Amino acid sequence: MTTDPTPDDASTNTTMCASCAGIQQNWRRARGHPELVQGSNRTVAHKHGSVTITKYRCEACGTIWEYENNKVNRHAGWSVLARPEEQKG
Ligand SMILES: [Zn+2]
Repeated sequence: MTTDPTPDDASTNTTMCASCAGIQQNWRRARGHPELVQGSNRTVAHKHGSVTITKYRCEACGTIWEYENNKVNRHAGWSVLARPEEQKG
C-alpha cells in the first residue's frame, strides 16, 4: 500500500500567489495556471506501470510544483515540492 503520507490540506497559503493557492492538490484532473513554467520530467515505475512526473516552477511566487500524470490514481496530480520561503540557493 502506497498512500500519500502527508495529506495536509491546511498548509496552502501565505507566500504562495493566488494562482498557486488556487490549484487543487492531489487531484488528477485539477489544472495548473499560466505562470507555471514547465521544467524537467521523470518517469517513475509503479507496480501498475510507469507514471510521468513533471516539475513546474511558478514565475510569480517561486513555488515548485510537481504534477504526477497517473491514470490509475485519481489522487495523483499537483503537489508542492517547495514553497518560496523554503528554497535555498
Ligand atoms: Zn505562484
